[in-house]
Amino acid sequence: MNTLNQQYEEKVRPCIDLIDSLRSLGVEKDLALPAIAVIGDQSSGKSSVLEALSGVALPRGSGIVTRCPLELKMKRQKSGEEWYGKISYQDHEEDIDDPADVEKKIKEAQNEMAGIGLGISDELISLEIASPDVPDLTLIDLPGIARVAVKGQPENIGDQIKRLISKFIKKQETISLVVVPCNVDIATTEALKMAQEVDPDGERTLGILTKPDLVDKGTEETVVDIVHNEVIHLKKGYMIVRCRGQKEITEKVSLTDAIEREEAFFKDHTFFNALYDDGHATIPKLAEKLTLELVHHIEKSLPRLEEQIEVKLAQTQAEMERYGSGPPTDAAERLTFLIDKVTAFNQDALNLTVGEELRCGEKLNVFSALRREFAKWRDLLDRSGDDCKCNLVQTQDHEKERLDWI
Ligand code: GDP
Ligand code: MG
Repeated sequence: MNTLNQQYEEKVRPCIDLIDSLRSLGVEKDLALPAIAVIGDQSSGKSSVLEALSGVALPRGSGIVTRCPLELKMKRQKSGEEWYGKISYQDHEEDIDDPADVEKKIKEAQNEMAGIGLGISDELISLEIASPDVPDLTLIDLPGIARVAVKGQPENIGDQIKRLISKFIKKQETISLVVVPCNVDIATTEALKMAQEVDPDGERTLGILTKPDLVDKGTEETVVDIVHNEVIHLKKGYMIVRCRGQKEITEKVSLTDAIEREEAFFKDHTFFNALYDDGHATIPKLAEKLTLELVHHIEKSLPRLEEQIEVKLAQTQAEMERYGSGPPTDAAERLTFLIDKVTAFNQDALNLTVGEELRCGEKLNVFSALRREFAKWRDLLDRSGDDCKCNLVQTQDHEKERLDWI
């Protein structure tokens, strides 16, 4: 089981289950489910962090590897159901049967969309994975921010990538992880600036320091200060993680082993063991923190949902009242209840024949309909009277003439 999932099961799952059960009760408007996006410079370790969190192998390495935004939609299945994957981009859609094929398929998709080489594309690759071992969550892997275009890349590649990133991190339901390697000066990171622009209060931005094993000797204390939120302040603070390096990937160190190595690394580190002790280090701790953020997000959206439910409830109650009370439980009372209903029905049938108001029926007011009809009839009679008078006068005149003549 991957690390994020363990945390998720305990804390977020009850929230998601609550939403699911509300949905099955027919609450139409669903809650926008949370997403986690990672942003940072090229090769800062974004894909590695996502991979360690989700347990799904993603393409990573040096240079520009993530060339299209990749939306990884994870869906939890009941235990015992088979792993299932589907990749879609543009008008292409393909099922993936083997988890080991995921990386290859993503690379193929990127080549298809951004061309073979180093270009990037705005278009989204969507990867859906259903498994009993993943949480219901969307992760977004984004291309890294490039400062200078290398050969074969358009001049404005930096701007292109930034535009693309802000499109994703602007969304309110997205939590942004700003990834910065330990061996880089954090103050110069563009990603942090971008995150602060779209989320000035830092409500949904988390700083992640990576590659602590590659830290410049002598700068360890600065890194500790950063993680302690003493250098560039972020409301949500920082975490530090160690993922698999290129060598470990070549040696096929599994994700589970990598978690153990990570723990040992922090525990034994002269400077960073303090960060381990106060809960600021390792992927499992990061997963724990993210989970809390997700729960917070869902809880924040609940009042809106509650409002909708109240409105619906009031409507339904009004409708129920029109039907009156239901049959009583007691057998004898039930009989009286039935007799009452039959009598009411008979009464209505009678009323209908004499044009009276109905007890149970609705919108059937005979009187007003009749009044309209009578008004029309009276009009007709009035006019007919005039004609009749006129005819009578004419007939009288004729008769007089005839008598005169005689
Ligand atoms: P991205 O471009 O930001 O997505 O970065 P990747 O996740 O592809 O990582 C770039 C390279 O850094 C890969 O070769 C990773 O194996 C390596 N890497 C990532 N995290 C660490 C780490 O904590 N320590 C070491 N030594 N290497 C890492
Ligand atoms: Mg990447």
